[in-house]
Amino acid sequence: PIALCWLRRDLRLHDNAALYYALKSGYPVLVVFVFDRLILDRLEDRRDRRVEFIHTEIHRINKELMAMGSGLVARYGEPLDVLQQLTQEYTVAEVYANYDYEVYAKERDAQVRDRLAERGIEFYTSKDHALLDHDEVLTGSGSPYTVFTPYSNNWLNKLDDFQLQSYPTESYFQHVYRIAPPEIPTLEAMNFKPLGESYPKPTVSAELLQAYQKMRDYPAQAGTSELGIHLRFGTISIRDLARQAKATSLTFLKELAWRDFYFQVLDHFPHVEKHAFRREYDRIQFRNNEAEFERWCAGETGYPIVDAGMRQLNETGWMHNRVRMIVASFCIKHLLIDWRWGEAYFARKLRDFDLAANNGGWQWAAGSGVDAAPYFRVFNPTLQAQKFDPKGEYIRKWVPEFNSFGYPAPMIDHAFARQRAIDTYKRELARP
Ligand code: FAD
Repeated sequence: PIALCWLRRDLRLHDNAALYYALKSGYPVLVVFVFDRLILDRLEDRRDRRVEFIHTEIHRINKELMAMGSGLVARYGEPLDVLQQLTQEYTVAEVYANYDYEVYAKERDAQVRDRLAERGIEFYTSKDHALLDHDEVLTGSGSPYTVFTPYSNNWLNKLDDFQLQSYPTESYFQHVYRIAPPEIPTLEAMNFKPLGESYPKPTVSAELLQAYQKMRDYPAQAGTSELGIHLRFGTISIRDLARQAKATSLTFLKELAWRDFYFQVLDHFPHVEKHAFRREYDRIQFRNNEAEFERWCAGETGYPIVDAGMRQLNETGWMHNRVRMIVASFCIKHLLIDWRWGEAYFARKLRDFDLAANNGGWQWAAGSGVDAAPYFRVFNPTLQAQKFDPKGEYIRKWVPEFNSFGYPAPMIDHAFARQRAIDTYKRELARP
């Protein structure tokens, strides 16, 4: 018999909790990956950066395993079916995977656990994406936190050397199951086309971390790590990164606390995936004007910082955090568009899209989430641009026609939009 290690959003062999426990199980370990049709077939864009990234990383891991006489068994299908096939092809004693906090993933894993149990196979899950999860950081009265600062203080206290230790998978690689080199499904076989893009490296320099606190709010500077995609798909170890951050930048470490914070919000309050965290915000009737939404998506609002952000997103799949806050606020408050529309657009475009963080960011901007800005605080895009892009470098890079005839006038007056947003929120929230 063998053990399976099922990779999902943890695409690495180094310091991988599930792989470590599988390798220590005493069974030879076969590493598997499922290109999940239930997710992939629904994606609108058939050139998708995330899918291409995963595909490249699967080849990389396969090569690493082939060098050990093994390989990565990757199949395109529905997870339950693929696992069923594998348990028919091999005598499987145990299956190992890392815990995922998304609603879909939790339901999938519960079904997998039941199905495997019917065949007498144990399914083990471990903490790997988060530094601290589930009930590890609770308030004094034992409930989950809904405010970030006390959460992060407690989180920092609990984040000791033990939590930050890496799993020494490398010491047990001799336990991989030997197989002939497997075939990886091509992108074309899954109806995707390659983009041929390159991605940021899965490392961050000491210099960047040292300057992070000073630089991170200025979108014209390359002052943030751009590690989002690697954290999303586990191509970097969160423990390695957090150790490095702890030694250099408390500000950066606290960003990793935000990541855990939103994981635990989604884990404890799964209704946030479709609804406002604060239920009364579901009452708000948004205007949802489709033509206005299109202008926002295309970066043609006439507010240069908003347009720069949206164009950066459309062209590269990434947007600076400060600008994410500005464009989200503009979409919800200035245009009165349901935060779920903006959230869905980001989900389609962001290469670092992560349901928990994206939902947290959008609900923060809508005022409907945990620890959100109060609804009457409406970002002024012009003042934000003056403060965070004082020389207009970021704007000029993404909106070169700014200040020329071709550039549209602001699609809505700021003072008018601000008052309308406040009045709407006030009226709707007061409705029974
Ligand atoms: P850095 O500044 O280098 O930070 C390092 C890492 O810390 C990030 O990669 C990320 O994993 C984590 N992090 C930083 N800030 C946050 C935060 N506020 N919440 C959670 N984690 C954080 N982040 C995503 O990873 N995926 C998303 O889909 C996403 N959507 C967002 C939507 C909105 C409306 C807003 C306001 C923010 C969103 N963020 C999201 C958070 C943040 O903007 C990005 O994590 C960050 O810009 C990614 O760039 P970076 O890797 O250079 O970050």
